[in-house]
Amino acid sequence: MQLGPKIIRECPECLKRFGQMTMSSGNTFGAKLWSDRKFDAPMMLESSRCGICPECNSFIWTDKATEITRIALADLMKSENSNIKSYESPRVTDYIEVLNNSNLNTKDEIYIRSQLLHCFNDYYRKGITEISSSDESKKNKLRLLDILGYRQDDLLLKAEIYRELGDFNAALAILDTLFDQNRQWVADRLIELCLAKNTDVVVLDQS
Ligand SMILES: [Zn+2]
Repeated sequence: MQLGPKIIRECPECLKRFGQMTMSSGNTFGAKLWSDRKFDAPMMLESSRCGICPECNSFIWTDKATEITRIALADLMKSENSNIKSYESPRVTDYIEVLNNSNLNTKDEIYIRSQLLHCFNDYYRKGITEISSSDESKKNKLRLLDILGYRQDDLLLKAEIYRELGDFNAALAILDTLFDQNRQWVADRLIELCLAKNTDVVVLDQS
């Protein structure tokens, strides 16, 4: 992975500065696509629309935090730049707090709830199933089923959520859709898992 410049933004809450690393090039070596559509790629920077301010712990939408400047990679080690902290990834509690305290439009709510789904399923991936199968996790899945749309990626995620909840018939009904060439193999894998009555979050593809 080749890093690019560091974008310096201003937190809208505390007005202090935080950094956002960028990537000039990456590759999918060692990448995993999970059935919940999480894409783990160790040779790429994770791109997220939101984060936690390292100075005041506020939840921030990165594109709503004004860009102040960009620091070239070669200048990052200079002393005046060394104390700028990067934003942190939100955790389960951060996402739940945003959902409870903000008036999100449907697109943003789907984004936050999909991120929350991945966070809960990360506990499953680590073998901590009491958190991944908690009431909050189930509530998030049911709400996603209500608000996801009808694009092919939405349908695949809906089918996956029904499968994870053990409602294989509802998942199979959605997977009966004809998907495009790039997605049909995903649908076929999910159908196999449904027929095997498997509710595990699994790796669908690894490169
Ligand atoms: Zn802040």
